[in-house]
Parts: sequence; C-alpha cells; structure tokens
Amino acid sequence: MSFTVAIDGPAASGKGTISRAVAAHFGLAHLDTGLLYRAVGKRMLEGEAPEVAASALTSENLKDPDALRGADVAQAASKVAAIPEVRAALVDFQRAFASRAGGAVLDGRDIGTVICPDAAAKLFVTATAEVRARRRHAELRARGVETSYEAVLADVHERDERDAGRSTAPMIVAPDAVLLDTSVLSIDEAVAAAIGAVRARLGD
Ligand code: C5P
Repeated sequence: MSFTVAIDGPAASGKGTISRAVAAHFGLAHLDTGLLYRAVGKRMLEGEAPEVAASALTSENLKDPDALRGADVAQAASKVAAIPEVRAALVDFQRAFASRAGGAVLDGRDIGTVICPDAAAKLFVTATAEVRARRRHAELRARGVETSYEAVLADVHERDERDAGRSTAPMIVAPDAVLLDTSVLSIDEAVAAAIGAVRARLGD
C-alpha cells in the first residue's frame, strides 16, 4: 500500500505551504486538489458547462497554476465544487494520484473524509478568518493585485460558508485528523508541527 498524507483546511489556512513542505520532507509527490476545482471554475467562466469541463479535465489543465490563482476563479471554483457531478468526475484522478507508488500528499477540503479515508496521516489545518484574510491580502498585494483587506475577508467568509455548508463532501474535520491551528504560528513552526504529526502517525 502506498503512503498517503491527507491535508485539509479552509482557504489561506497555510495548508498549501505546509503540504509542499511535508511532501518535500518525506520525498512524496504533491497534488493541490484546489487546482482541479479552479480549472473547472475557469472553464465555467469561459462558458463551458462545469460537469463537462470536470469530466474532460487532464493534468494538462493544471500546468499553469498562476492562471488559476485569481479571486474570480476561486469564487467560481467554490461554486462548481458544490455540484455533485463535478466532484464525482474528479474522484478517480485524485485517487490515482494518491495511490502512486512513491506515496503522495494531497491537500484540499475532503481528502481525509471522502477521497482518501484510509490515508496514513491526516491533518486539518486552520486559522481564524481574520488571520487568513490578512495573509491572503498580503500575498495578493505582493503579486501586485489591488484589493482591500475587507474584500478579502468577505471572500474568505463566503467561501468558508459555501465549502462547509454544501451537502456533498462538505469541509469537515475527519475524526482521525490532527488539528493544526496556524493562527499564531510562523510558517517554520507550522511546518515543523505538521512534519511532527505525520512522523507520529508513521510511528517513529
Ligand atoms: O484550495 P483552494 O482555495 O485553491 O480551492 C478552491 C476551491 O475549490 C475551494 O474554495 C473549494 O470550494 C474547492 N475545493 C473543494 N474540494 C477540494 C479542494 C478545493 O471543494 N478538495
């Protein structure tokens, strides 16, 4: 059986940074599953039916992640993510990635609950909405995107509610996940805590 690490959590919780660091530390492949929903959301904005876009998705569509980072695409992603047919069409791709021989880290909202319920280690990374909005705001400004903290906070709240409130695969903490609140942690501290939690699950 291959070694899978499931890392879930809300937008801008730090789960992307943590997932990349955990993958690099343990020599595992990494899939940011938000990119799948973002790619489908982008195609919906371009006029395609989300269910059709989801069933036609390939790794080619994920080659330019920067084109999928905008707030409009993020909002579209959280809308298409509530469509059961879209989620169903993306399951096989994610499970195939998770079961690759060298092991993998997948991050998203439903990895530990739906996609990989048997993952060897599960983390749920969170932080207060205000801390997450502050981080996302700083990140967007560093990329030259003009936006206010209030607008980013409103986006965070809106996506949280949609992700936690949908009936198919809502964002919830898996019962066997380690909860990691990064509100008052530096990146290095959060990464160290995540690596420690995975190591503890590995039994060493
Ligand atoms: O993680 P990221 O913010 O890039 O995800 C964009 C959107 O995709 C989320 O707001 C969420 O609605 C959706 N998503 C999901 N399930 C996942 C990953 C992302 O519903 N596993």
